Amino acid sequence: MPVLRDIFIHLSENKILNDTTKKIGLKFGADKVVGGIKVEDTIERIKDINNQGMSVTFDNLGEFITEKSDALWEKGNIIEMIKAIDENNVDAHASVKLSQIGLHIDYDFCLENTREILTVAKQADMFVNIDMENYAAYDDTIRLIDTVLEEFDNVGTVIQSYLFSSREDVIKYKDQRLRLVKGAYKEVPEVAFQDKRDIDAAYLRLIKTHLLEGRGFTSIATHDHNIIEETIDFIKENNIPNDQFEFQMLYGFRKDYQRNLVQRGYNTVVYVPFGYDWYAYFMRRLAERPQNINLVVKGITKD
Ligand code: FAD
Repeated sequence: MPVLRDIFIHLSENKILNDTTKKIGLKFGADKVVGGIKVEDTIERIKDINNQGMSVTFDNLGEFITEKSDALWEKGNIIEMIKAIDENNVDAHASVKLSQIGLHIDYDFCLENTREILTVAKQADMFVNIDMENYAAYDDTIRLIDTVLEEFDNVGTVIQSYLFSSREDVIKYKDQRLRLVKGAYKEVPEVAFQDKRDIDAAYLRLIKTHLLEGRGFTSIATHDHNIIEETIDFIKENNIPNDQFEFQMLYGFRKDYQRNLVQRGYNTVVYVPFGYDWYAYFMRRLAERPQNINLVVKGITKD
């Protein structure tokens, strides 16, 4: 349903709606896919997930950051969460969006903020994943990753299979910890596959390449059972040990399948977003899978 997808993407980018929804708390069923507004609530959610045998990657929600003061505030939230995870001794690592800590304001400012987060995370013995955002941020993100990889060993990034550059990047980072995804944004045909079959085929190739070549740890972040089961077959055929990879899924999605992977002995990680800025994230999840609209219907009838 490409029209619905475009509508939800459009809604996710509406600044007025983003600003308004920050003030009203989790609504319309968003609590099914967002871990919490505050750090304390989110820590409780992480404990629940840990108790089910899964690890967590947390994401401080925050979009449209155009002022340095806002970027510094978001950096503070991320550091607060890293410290809370350390103090509470829960099993979680960080996912960070560079646009939130100043990538679109000033590259050097963003680099300094990233270094600060990585330093605090290192003290907490925590890995930090730099999420990949839209293609407009791609060059600066790769540049920043290459810089921090020279200085830190607790950082990695995400490669999106819809980008034509993905194969080259997976080979470049074959010895690094990488999260592999299909890609969540709408990109032009000059830089990205448009057909789902091409994206899926590229995705499987990336997973197999990263699992076999180099020494990098592979995070396979998808809800697609066809991809996951084909990956598991590949892992068995090639005797790839379970400590070289993990599966990642978003909080609230395919919970039965998450549990099933745990029961089968596979490391499974839940991506838990939290914070006031939940709206754009929620809209993007609806864009990906309009069937998720039933979360909204249930959410409205509940409220
Ligand atoms: P899809 O192609 O959406 O679905 C394939 C098939 O899987 C569907 O046809 C259906 O049969 C089944 N399926 C999918 N979802 C469900 C469901 N909820 N219930 C039942 N069946 C389902 N994108 C980025 O661009 N940058 C990032 O940094 C990034 N990080 C991510 C981190 C995590 C942990 C995850 C899970 C995703 C991340 N993404 C990121 C999003 C990703 O790029 C995709 O947009 C998103 O995961 C949707 O694609 P998919 O691989 O899950 O499968």
